Amino acid sequence: MEHKFVFATNNKHKLKEVNEIADGKFDILSLNDINCIDTIPEDQDTLEGNALQKARYIYEKCMINCFADDTGLEVDVLNGSPGAFSARYAGDQCDSNDNIEKLLSEMGDTPYRSARFRTVVALVLDGKEYFFEGEIKGEIITEKRGSGGFGYDAVFVPEGLSDTFAELPAFLKNSISHRAIAMQKLFYFLRHYQR
Ligand code: IMP
Repeated sequence: MEHKFVFATNNKHKLKEVNEIADGKFDILSLNDINCIDTIPEDQDTLEGNALQKARYIYEKCMINCFADDTGLEVDVLNGSPGAFSARYAGDQCDSNDNIEKLLSEMGDTPYRSARFRTVVALVLDGKEYFFEGEIKGEIITEKRGSGGFGYDAVFVPEGLSDTFAELPAFLKNSISHRAIAMQKLFYFLRHYQR
């Protein structure tokens, strides 16, 4: 089990990003790799709760060290919404466009547009639980710009830049993103962990 971890996802984009950060020093398995076809429960109302629920489920079922992530967009003027509900903000059957439309309509023309993406990674290692967090601050613009990325990228401009996440080259977004920061903290921890 040494240096072998399940990342509780089948998202190819996330697996590639995480393998780049792990830099060949860890064996990262996806849910497909361990033949897990279960629908893993993810019904908590916090990012921490959802990430831990997924990691614990795999650890307990497969007895293999596991980490999982959960991300949300937190908008200050909406008291942190959509947060843990980012994926299904406009409803269960909705897509990213519906979510963005709902977000822009909730915010209206308020000048208070500060927001952040926050990722929480939960790790269950030898039965113990650890959390790692990454965030990037920015603001929500009033109209979509750019065709790259996914989710809310087309309306999020990171602090200090003028392009939206959807206008930035993928390698640049992936090197400064909330998820990259949280994953870098995870792998820093794992490289220094003593059993
Ligand atoms: P997940 O926890 O990574 O599945 O993310 C939950 C939801 O947050 C996604 O469905 C997206 O709507 C949004 N989201 C997560 N990461 C990003 C990102 O990097 N850019 C834009 N939206 C994101």
